[in-house]
Amino acid sequence: MKKLFIAGNWKSNKTIADAKDWLEKVQINANGATIVVLAPFITLPFLHEEIARRNLPLLLGSQNISKFDEGAYTGEVTGKMIKEVADWVIIGHSERRKYFSESDADLATKVEKAHAAGLKVIYCVPDDTTPIPSSVEVVAYEPVWAIGTGKTDTPENANAVVSSIKQKTGAVTVLYGGSVTADNVASFVKTQAIDGVLPGGASLDPEKFSRLIQASL
Ligand code: PEP
Repeated sequence: MKKLFIAGNWKSNKTIADAKDWLEKVQINANGATIVVLAPFITLPFLHEEIARRNLPLLLGSQNISKFDEGAYTGEVTGKMIKEVADWVIIGHSERRKYFSESDADLATKVEKAHAAGLKVIYCVPDDTTPIPSSVEVVAYEPVWAIGTGKTDTPENANAVVSSIKQKTGAVTVLYGGSVTADNVASFVKTQAIDGVLPGGASLDPEKFSRLIQASL
């Protein structure tokens, strides 16, 4: 029996007021699955308190981490700061690689900083040839052309790429991401190798995210 892992990536969406509304409407029956919300930094302290107060089966993650320790790095948020309010961080997302020119070396440093702070890492790759730091807890295979486009990889090909990543790296938990919705999630999680999904757009609407989780169980 698979232990499913679902990570919703809010990207640069939602104010604290939006996050409050989302929490009021989301209905999560995790049924043993690990559910992580990757939220903007500014919303994390609020979400951290509210999730505990409401006793929701949700874990929190940030969408970035500084490659430096604390100090004179204006605008950066360190692993130590994140750890006060979250347990996970997503590193290597194709949007960070593309818009912020994050190299494999930068990303490897970020993984080190995350682990030094006690954070767990979801590490994204666009294929099975991109380097993956060996210590990461979860890998996400996300073909760039499928992100935010409404086009998904086929479950057969996604399963083959995920199997290849597992064989090459020894990764235990590998997700598929790219236009996952409540309507197609079952086709991915029922494959032999895929351990869960990383929805972006479909995590923004609390009803859609709740349905996606329900449809994956
Ligand atoms: C993502 O945020 O990594 C993602 C796959 O987004 P979407 O589900 O919107 O394609």
